[in-house]
Order: sequence, then structure tokens, then C-alpha cells
Amino acid sequence: MGLAFHASHSSNPLCIDYFMSDYYSVLGVSKNADKDEIKKAFRKLAHKYHPDKDGGDEAKFKEVNEAYQVLSDDKKRQQYDRFGQTFDGAGQQYANMNWDDFASQFGDMFGGGGGVGGFDFGDIFAQAFGGQRAGSRRQSSVRGQDVEMSMNIDFRTAVFGDEKTVSANMLQTCDVCDGDGAEPGSKIITCPECKGSGHVIHDQRSILGMIRQQVTCRTCKGQGNKPERFCKSCHGQGRRVADKKIKVKIPAGIDDGQAIKLSGQGEAGMNGASPGDLFIRFNVSKDKEFERQGYDIYKSLHISFTDAALGETIRVNTLDGPVDLKIPPGTQSGQILKLKGKGVPHLGAPNRRGDQLVMIHVDVPKRLSRKQKKLLEEFKKIS
Ligand SMILES: [Zn+2]
Ligand SMILES: [Zn+2]
Repeated sequence: MGLAFHASHSSNPLCIDYFMSDYYSVLGVSKNADKDEIKKAFRKLAHKYHPDKDGGDEAKFKEVNEAYQVLSDDKKRQQYDRFGQTFDGAGQQYANMNWDDFASQFGDMFGGGGGVGGFDFGDIFAQAFGGQRAGSRRQSSVRGQDVEMSMNIDFRTAVFGDEKTVSANMLQTCDVCDGDGAEPGSKIITCPECKGSGHVIHDQRSILGMIRQQVTCRTCKGQGNKPERFCKSCHGQGRRVADKKIKVKIPAGIDDGQAIKLSGQGEAGMNGASPGDLFIRFNVSKDKEFERQGYDIYKSLHISFTDAALGETIRVNTLDGPVDLKIPPGTQSGQILKLKGKGVPHLGAPNRRGDQLVMIHVDVPKRLSRKQKKLLEEFKKIS
């Protein structure tokens, strides 16, 4: 999964960044790539991932196309560079794709004339892109994309865990049509093009003469039926971009840079396919008093040279509040004293905890009273 679809939601107190695919890395080009480079990269990858080829990958193919749709369009690319997203809604990128332009621009990469090696160019594209040609409807089921978000949390939340609700803007099952792409009240009708069989016979001219082939019906994508009217809300896609509230259980012990996976909380799948997963990566803020290293907590403690020499019990702050720490006589500056089990709960095993390590700094007095000075000089004589 790529990163970088980056948009801060200022309304969100947790400051969520929302990631989707980074279109530049999807195409494997630099951020400064010019149009030619982008086009070249797209052609190469479209070839590689073409779902009709051995080793093709429909999801990748779609991803590559999506990236190309944005980066090849000056306005969308500008928006994307600036805001990390375009504002026509990810789900609509396919719907808005100008099919004829696209086919004429890239038709040559499949050998020109529209058909090559026995497959129908238009059919493949309509399926693979979910492209919305006149009267056709996307039926291929593609799992929803994984989504990555980052969440800023404070030091203690990371240590002890918490539950927070966040909102993210992502592709979800359309709530108007419930994902089936049909306008409410619209009947599901037998596909008029294939009469319900799901496929049609095409006669195709080729250098070898006419070839008759059976291909999947474009109108119903092989389903045999289709809604009479498509859902206006999602343009028949079954999904649309909307805000989603997500309850996030932050596990105790999570550390800066670590992520959790919320299965099935990513983008909705297409046509009933399973949704993607949501990954939440945590940015943990630093604490003024404690420093964390793994499951251990470090804290500095300044003690007087007399306490260091004679030993003393001193109140020390821990993550759980103050406790008594025994300073043994003869404690040296730089020595580390351990408070067992006062560290961070282990991720997934919160009853196990790291330790708090107290780093001792012995302070030597900068000024002495006359009496102190006298006593110390006496001390010096006998030591
Ligand atoms: Zn809908
Ligand atoms: Zn049909």
C-alpha cells in the first residue's frame, strides 16, 4: 500500500492525516516528472498489470490508472500536490473518465484497432477500470483499498492506552443504494443488451478475416441484469466518499511510529467485495519528565552529596504517581537505580511492565555556610 494521500482534518482534535496511494510512487516517477514521463510510466505499468495477461493484477491496474488520471491532468495534479487529494471524489475518477479520449490516446498500446489477440479492447478497459461507458455498469468486484492514517497521541495515552473516536474521509458503501448502485425504487431489470445471458457475440475484423467471439456483456458486466436507473448519489458506483467515524482502541504500550490494523475499516469494496483495512500509525509526543526507551522509562533525579554519601529515601515521580526510592549510602553520580515494574505495559501483555530507571545526579553545593564549611574541613582531615 502506498502512502501520502495527505490531508489534515482541522476539525479533528486529534489531527488525523489521511493517506491513500501516493500517485507518484504508484507510477514510479518523481514529483517533478513531466507529462511524457508520466505517460510512459503509465503505459509500461498498464502493460505489466493488465488483468488479461498472465501475472496481471487488476487491483494494481486500477491503482495505476487512478494515479494516471490525476497526474496527467494539470488541474488535478496541482490539487493533489497541494492538498494530497483531488476534490472530485476518488470514486468518481472512473465515472468522470472520458472514455473516448482515453481509448484514442492509449488504444495504440494494445495494437491499435481496438481488438488484439482475441480480446476486446473496450470490454477489458470498461471492466478493469470500472469505466462507465454509456449504459454500462461496473460489476467487477475489487477489494476496497487499505487506508493509512496517522494519529497524534500524548505520551501517557501511548503508555496506558485509551479509546478515541476519529473521523476520516474515505470511500464507503453508498448509503442511498446500499452499495448495489441502483436508484432506490428502481427495478432490477434483465439486461436489454444480452437478454440476461451475460455475454454477447462480437464479430470482429482482423487481419485473418472476421473473428466471431463471445465476450462478457458490457452493459451488465456479465450479471445478466442491471438496475433500471443508477443511484444518483454514487453514480451507480455503489461507493462514495464520505466522513466515517471510527472508534480506535489505542493499545497500552504502543510506541511512536508503531501502527495498528483495523480489519475491514478501510475503503469499501466494489460490488460487495470485502473492504480494505485501516492502518493507524501513532505519533507519540514527548514527555517533559519521562523518557521512554522500549518499555523502560528513564528519569533524572538530582540528590545532594550528603544524601548520596549517607543514603536516604526520596519521593520519586513515576507513571503511577510518586513512590519512595531508597538511595543506598555511597550512591555515585551517574548511577542508575531501578524501580521494577514501573515502566510501560507490554503491548498485548499489559500486566507485564518495563522498569523505571532513575539516573542519579549528585549535586555538589556551590555555596556553604560557615558552619558547613567548618564541618567539611573537619571531615576532610579525618578522611
Ligand atoms: Zn448509491
Ligand atoms: Zn448484459
